[in-house]
Amino acid sequence: MDPKQIWQAVLGEIEINISKANFVTWFNNTYISEIKDGSIIVAVPNGFSKEWLENKYGKFIKQSLSKHCDRVSSIEYKIIPIQKTPAAPKNQKSQPHARASIENQTPPPNLNSRYLFESLVVGSHNELARAACESVAKNPGQNYNPLFIYGGVGLGKTHLIQAIGNYVSQNTPQLFVKYVTSEKFTSELVDAIKKQSIDIFKEKYKKIDLLLIDDIQFIGGKEKTQEEFFHIFNTLYQENKQIVLCSDRPPKSIATLEERLRSRFEGGMIVDVIRPDLETRIAILAKKARNLNSPPIPAEVLEYIAKNIHHNVRELEGVLNKLVATCQLQGYSPDLQNAKIILQDSFSKIITESLTPDKIINIVCDFYGIEKEKIKSKARGSEIMKPRQVAIYLIRKKAKLSYPSIGKELGGRDHTTIMHAYNKIKSLLKQDPSLKQELISIQEQCSC
Ligand code: ADP
Ligand code: MG
Repeated sequence: MDPKQIWQAVLGEIEINISKANFVTWFNNTYISEIKDGSIIVAVPNGFSKEWLENKYGKFIKQSLSKHCDRVSSIEYKIIPIQKTPAAPKNQKSQPHARASIENQTPPPNLNSRYLFESLVVGSHNELARAACESVAKNPGQNYNPLFIYGGVGLGKTHLIQAIGNYVSQNTPQLFVKYVTSEKFTSELVDAIKKQSIDIFKEKYKKIDLLLIDDIQFIGGKEKTQEEFFHIFNTLYQENKQIVLCSDRPPKSIATLEERLRSRFEGGMIVDVIRPDLETRIAILAKKARNLNSPPIPAEVLEYIAKNIHHNVRELEGVLNKLVATCQLQGYSPDLQNAKIILQDSFSKIITESLTPDKIINIVCDFYGIEKEKIKSKARGSEIMKPRQVAIYLIRKKAKLSYPSIGKELGGRDHTTIMHAYNKIKSLLKQDPSLKQELISIQEQCSC
């Protein structure tokens, strides 16, 4: 076998053993650049891949290589940057803009100073996202551009994206950082249009070295915003400026996102954050508890909270704060017995709230960008049928309503129609990975 075939065989083996996101992230643009007397040099595109291949996958790669080569004495990972075709004429590649020169026109980065890499607890649920963010913070514009982070509510996306901003502001203060939500971006744009100052708006954005846009899913359906954002995106990208985007769902699930933007978003690196496991939830609580002005909270109390809240780190924080505040006010000690009395209501509220059909309908409508009245109406266009069927499926599965009751919730539909819709989604889920992903995103928002 030649080096290319050997590496293909190794990749084939690795691909079936790790997640797609990990595979694409770490193994794209890797190849064997040299084999000589059992010494193999694997080319990797950047220092970051080198670190991960060496440390996380080194053993695995070695085992696999040994199967396909006669004698493997050493494996070395060597950084050989990818030769990109320049998108802009070379001499136009701009230098970072000195902050001082634009300070007057641009507001400060608008970052929460608590959102740091150090304050983020890392678990398997966010390991990849955190590593990608750190890499971007250390080498903006060089490794993963754009970086697209998605995941459910309260799982640390804003924390991560702002940690990049804080890191860069502290370590490379000459770079101009802007953090903005997509809603703020839209309202700034609308304002600029009203004031006929759209050129100033564009100029301002094009001077940014690190653009962090949060909740980019809200750009869906806003044509003018997408149009302007597309141009700003291209300008920044061509000048190797870093763009990081957060969303509650992957690009392909953002309804009414223009194809050209979708393909831009998919052209960089996409990472997800999922729900933390029990150990990580306990670790998060322990870290937060240490920072609170409170008597030590016993481990069994942290475990009790972590076992009752599975979906959302913000809720974990909220419940812990409630416990500490109540204990302080009433002079109780934060032991398990008191915790159970104080927190019981919070837990049952979170559970029942997450299970009402109405909440599911609202989230589904929000997700697909349709009005609630429409989903309950007789309308039959495919843009409405699918969300309706998804809502039916979720209400049945998560709120456990009977078919006739679901029919009532959805504008008085017959139970056979409901049953048909439920079965349809159930069977589609087996064949359609993008529908599966949509359901995961929606359920994360339902916290169910
Ligand atoms: P999202 O943007 O995904 O909705 P946030 O970033 O706003 O979520 O996170 C919600 C809260 O939970 C924030 O206060 C954040 O600091 C905290 N948080 C989330 N994940 C972690 C983590 N892994 N370690 C520590 N704090 C976390
Ligand atoms: Mg957020």
